[in-house]
Amino acid sequence: MRKKIVAGNWKMNTLPAEGVELAKGIVAGRGEVCSCVNFIVCPPFTHLSMVAEALKGSDIELGAQNCAAEAKGAYTGEVAASMIAALGCKYVILGHSERRQYYGETSATLNKKMEQAYANGLTPIYCVGENLEEREAGKHFDVVKAQIEEVVYNLTEEQFKNLVIAYEPVWAIGTGKTATADQAQEIHAYIRKVLADKFGAAAAECPILYGGSCKPTNAAEIFAKEDVDGGLIGGAALKAGDFLAIGKGFAK
Ligand code: PEP
Repeated sequence: MRKKIVAGNWKMNTLPAEGVELAKGIVAGRGEVCSCVNFIVCPPFTHLSMVAEALKGSDIELGAQNCAAEAKGAYTGEVAASMIAALGCKYVILGHSERRQYYGETSATLNKKMEQAYANGLTPIYCVGENLEEREAGKHFDVVKAQIEEVVYNLTEEQFKNLVIAYEPVWAIGTGKTATADQAQEIHAYIRKVLADKFGAAAAECPILYGGSCKPTNAAEIFAKEDVDGGLIGGAALKAGDFLAIGKGFAK
């Protein structure tokens, strides 16, 4: 049985006190959602210790949105994987399309970040996905295949057992445009096949999340698909009620 996951990517939103309120709201309503759903929140770095405190005593897990490619040293402005792990993070989002697009993250950088994540006991939520032009040119399968081969294929079998993939079509992120449930299933099944080509049966255990304008009104239909194991949620993760309602989308 694969894990069911609803992860919130808060991006660069909320002041620390607002983040704490949001976390408390999620904790307060968590009991209304099946305990089979694993909730993860990924606030900005500045909020991590305060949000960790607010989550104490609940089963909601903490993640970061990024980590440095190096272990420590003279890298002004960077935050090491060891630092976020020390604050209670269990997960780290890596390869988000906004990091690839605005901060020039390449597969070479991401390989180093993945190493840092694993060296510090973190589970990466590795994001893949095509942009609109690539989708319209029918290149989406090749794009996600390359993003997986160039990074995930470098993992050991042990590391692969601790990996979450998020398929996020760039054209659906923050645009209100969602992939249809069938589009999501088609590419999730393909991703699982690409993973199986390298890791065999272990691919059946890897959670693959959908991300891109996922909200309470469309989550159930998308999560009902066989190879969709939950969602990476941006905008709708900023309201406790919406975030929890997305978790209620699991009927299986
Ligand atoms: C994201 O960026 O991870 C995301 C899925 O954003 P949104 O839900 O706002 O489209």
